[in-house]
Amino acid sequence: MSSVKKVLIVGGGIGGLSSGIALAKIGCSVEIAEIHAAFNVYGVGIIQPANALRALDALGLADEAMRRGSPYGMVKMCSSGGHMFTEVGVPPIGRLPSHNGISRKILHDIMYEEAVKQGVFFRMGVTVAAIDNGVDGVAVQFTDGSNGSYDILIGADGVNSKVRSMVLGNYKAKYTGESVWRYAFKRPAELETGYMFMGRKTKVGLIPMTADTMYMFVVSAEGESPAIAENELVPKMKALLQEYRAPMVQHVIEEISDPKKVIYRPLEVLFVPAPWYKNRVLLIGDAVHATIPQLGQGAGLALEDSIVLAELLQSDDDLETGFQKFMDRRLERCKMIVDVSVQIGELEQLDWKGQMPEGTNIGAIMGRALGAMMQPI
Ligand SMILES: Cc1cc2nc3c(=O)[nH]c(=O)nc-3n(C[C@H](O)[C@H](O)[C@H](O)COP(=O)(O)OP(=O)(O)OC[C@H]3O[C@@H](n4cnc5c(N)ncnc54)[C@H](O)[C@@H]3O)c2cc1C
Repeated sequence: MSSVKKVLIVGGGIGGLSSGIALAKIGCSVEIAEIHAAFNVYGVGIIQPANALRALDALGLADEAMRRGSPYGMVKMCSSGGHMFTEVGVPPIGRLPSHNGISRKILHDIMYEEAVKQGVFFRMGVTVAAIDNGVDGVAVQFTDGSNGSYDILIGADGVNSKVRSMVLGNYKAKYTGESVWRYAFKRPAELETGYMFMGRKTKVGLIPMTADTMYMFVVSAEGESPAIAENELVPKMKALLQEYRAPMVQHVIEEISDPKKVIYRPLEVLFVPAPWYKNRVLLIGDAVHATIPQLGQGAGLALEDSIVLAELLQSDDDLETGFQKFMDRRLERCKMIVDVSVQIGELEQLDWKGQMPEGTNIGAIMGRALGAMMQPI
């Protein structure tokens, strides 16, 4: 695989930027084709557990992510009234803390700045119009009429991946019945770590993003019709929060006022069976394993994909062997996260209907899955 010198990555999200940096660092000439003419990453946050930080550390970016984000320890699990009953989360890995909360925009900026520094070339506002995926190389026609030839193409274009449909066939993400509502706030002094509050039919998280900011997520079951009109976002989000008497939640409800700042998203899942490659095209990230955020691991998986790929590209294996080794190291780990996240989502929906199977311990299910993710990749 050391014969791979010129790479096209389709998609400039977390998977695309991290693989761009990782491959540029091992000496590849890298181009990223991003469909949007300018990045427009929303300002609510993302949870980076220790294994995601470990992958960022391999790119040399963990310290910057922690400096511009907010490292924190175990998550305090509380009743809707604010009574803490346990703590959950992952253990630190060496000097890396259990979690880092960070604004998605800041994380994107950190990775974009590093990609530019590493010489990655960005083709903004274009995507692939045609891919000739040969045995010896990939020839690409772009939507702006230009062409390019590459040793390999990495599809990192997210859950609705065009590369996937062009190379692997038709797969469609499945709605899980749950939605997430997010909103960013000023951070109160008493928020010293991540918090989760368990309600009767929803759950709420408060996650530090910077020294001065935090974001809230609310997970709700939206049944068969999850679409919500913009003018309903603020009143519906506030209504979901009414049962939460915990002061930290109560104090911010009135600040929810701008529908444009309510980041509402029905949760979809997709897992593509092996192999995630054909000839000279490999897919990574949400394009092949889009999970729901119950374990906060989706971005971590995309980052790990990039680290493993860069490591394998440095070996003397032929491409087929290298891509197969990628599958050997990634398939089960990614599948476990998608499966357990879906299981947790289904269990909490049963719980909210009063039908939780007796003896179910969601905390133990989470703990086992997250513990496994701390193992080396
Ligand atoms: C509500 C929610 C909360 C989440 N919270 C967390 C969390 O706390 N922690 C965590 O680790 N993960 C979380 N995730 C998951 C995480 O956001 C994703 O796993 C991660 O963003 C995947 O990165 P990606 O690069 O594969 O895809 P994306 O982030 O979707 O990036 C894809 C990129 O490709 C571009 N693109 C799309 N189509 C094309 C095309 N045809 N041509 C060129 N470019 C294209 C897009 O514009 C985008 O820039 C969450 C997900 C959701 C839905």
